[in-house]
Parts: sequence; structure tokens; C-alpha cells
Amino acid sequence: MRTLENPMPHDAVVIGGSYAGLSAALQLVRARRRVLVVDDGRPRNRFAARAHGVLSNDGRPGAEIAAAARAQVAAYPTAAFRTAEAVDVERTDDGFSIAFADGTRTTGRRLILAHGVEDVLPEIPGVRERWGRTALHCPWCHGYEVGGGPIGVLGRGDHAVQYALVVAEWGQAVLFIDPARVSDTEARQLAKRGVTIEPTPVERLEGEAPTLTGARLTDSRFVPLKAVFVGAQVRLSNGFAERLGCEMTDTPMGRIIKVDAQQQTSQPGVFAAGDLARSAGNITLATTDGMTAAHAAFRSLLEEETA
Ligand SMILES: Cc1cc2nc3c(=O)[nH]c(=O)nc-3n(C[C@H](O)[C@H](O)[C@H](O)COP(=O)(O)OP(=O)(O)OC[C@H]3O[C@@H](n4cnc5c(N)ncnc54)[C@H](O)[C@@H]3O)c2cc1C
Repeated sequence: MRTLENPMPHDAVVIGGSYAGLSAALQLVRARRRVLVVDDGRPRNRFAARAHGVLSNDGRPGAEIAAAARAQVAAYPTAAFRTAEAVDVERTDDGFSIAFADGTRTTGRRLILAHGVEDVLPEIPGVRERWGRTALHCPWCHGYEVGGGPIGVLGRGDHAVQYALVVAEWGQAVLFIDPARVSDTEARQLAKRGVTIEPTPVERLEGEAPTLTGARLTDSRFVPLKAVFVGAQVRLSNGFAERLGCEMTDTPMGRIIKVDAQQQTSQPGVFAAGDLARSAGNITLATTDGMTAAHAAFRSLLEEETA
């Protein structure tokens, strides 16, 4: 059994106590490591009533899944939680210092960033109030529940056509896109999937939100729709990684933190897990990332202690 003690209060501080962060914490507290999980209660899926595609939790509210995980982590004596927003992080001689809005700070030997991303929604009236209900980003998460019928696809970014080809699995898809952005090959692929191309832009979504009845186009036509899929565009929810000097990587969905296969960032002692370090995430992948990051953080502590 390990006997070495360290004067720092936490072996690891995890910023973000949702799926990735709690998964990381679970592994480390099971290794009897002292872990502080900092979280301010804004998981990315908070707009959706239920989470899907999560093994053994299919259809359970996302908040319930996280609450159960948190209770299990909290049962370990070396787990600590702080409900607060971390506002700054900096490297110190022997680890990291994390600042909170009330002016207090805490320190940890390793840092696991698991604070997720924010969705950047298109500026189309009606999207925001339907987000996670009838305006959706992930067909794997919510496509089945739409139950077929007419569905819209708001084509954004370079992967709009590929996205529409996938979404078409779950309904009669109408892709709202400038046809100049669709190659002949893509047009043939879309036709094979039964996807209609609508060149006129959407002016607004209509219906008693969160219900959707359809899209009003800029030429006043109305296209009936049960749901609209919006290709994800994300941004990191803060600049911690960049301030610490972590390398970033650009993906079609936005800039995320660059990690290796062990969720190690380019900065020693800093690990990143979940949506902030992968281009298309979900609960299961975030959980896996958290576990991987925790094992890597553990190994790095071990190396320091046996040097
Ligand atoms: C509308 C919607 C529905 C979705 N539905 C599904 C689904 O059905 N199934 C599925 O598998 N996936 C779903 N997803 C994807 C899923 O939500 C994410 O992949 C998952 O939440 C990523 O987990 P995470 O731990 O990386 O980040 P998050 O779950 O986003 O958690 C990040 C946490 O960090 C905290 N945080 C951020 N900044 C700070 C700070 N400075 N200080 C303290 N705390 C901070 C936040 O409060 C939050 O609790 C959905 C996403 C959206 C947008």
C-alpha cells in the first residue's frame, strides 16, 4: 500500500463534474487518491428531457445519470466536491492552482479538464427555445424518438451533406442548403437517400415551442417538419487549456483540446476528457475518456513518486 503523503490537498483537481469528470474521479478515488471535483451544474445536455443510447440507462434523464454517478463517487472517503465555477487555472512549482469567483483558490498535483463545450446555435429564431427537444444535433441520441416523418436539416459547415445523409435514416429529410455547396456526386447521394434539397433559407421555426410544426422560409413558404437537426458547432466553455499552453486542434465542429490516446494534453500534468477533447462526443465516450485520463494521471503521479 502507498504510504507517501503529499502536502498538497488534492492529488487531482477535476474541473467539470459531469460524465467525463465523474468517471475520472471514480477511478482515482478507487485508487485512494484525493480528488476534488469542481462543477457549476451546466452539462451540455441539460436542454434534453432524456438521454438515449447509454447502455443500461437508455431513456433516463441525463441529470439522473450524473446524479447517480456523483453519489457513487461521493461514497469514497477521498472524494471532495465543490459546487462553484472555476475562473482561472495556473501552473505552480508542484502542480496547479485553481481560482474561484469568490476569490478563494485550491491546489492539486494534477489537473483534469472535463468542463465540456458550449453549442453555438444558428441565429435562426425558434432554434434556441427548441434546443434539445425538437431542434436536435445528434440523430443517434434523439432520432429514434422523432418517430419518422418530415425532418429538417440545417446544413452548416463542410460536413452538411454527410450529416444529412446520416440524418435521413430517421425520417424524410429536407436539407436547407445553398445548392452551390452541393457537388454533383453529393446531389446523387442525397437523392439515393430520399433527401430533398431546399435552397431557400429558413427565416424562423414555427409552432408552440418546444413543439415544432415547421419552418417558415424567407420567401414565405411553409415546410411542415416534426423536428430539425442542426449540425453541431461548438466552442470550449473557457480558455483554461489555452492559458496553460495546451495545444489545440481544429475540427469541422470547432476548436478542441489536442490529446493523445491517453487523454494527455501537450502540457505535463494536464489531462483532458470528454467533449472538450473530441470532435463528436456523447455520454459513453465522455465516460471512457474520463477513465482513460484518470489512469494516465495516476501513472504520472506514480512516476513522480518513484523517481
Ligand atoms: C441537447 C443535447 C442532447 C444530448 N443528448 C445526448 C444523449 O441522449 N445521449 C448521449 O450519449 N449524449 C447526448 N448528448 C451529448 C452529451 O451531452 C455530451 O457528450 C456529454 O455531456 C459530454 O460530457 P462531458 O462530461 O464532457 O461534458 P458536460 O456533460 O457538458 O459537463 C461539463 C461540466 O463542466 C462544468 N463546467 C464547465 N465549466 C466549468 C467551470 N469553469 N467551473 C466549474 N464547472 C464547469 C459544467 O457545469 C458541466 O457540468 C447531448 C448533447 C446535447 C447538446
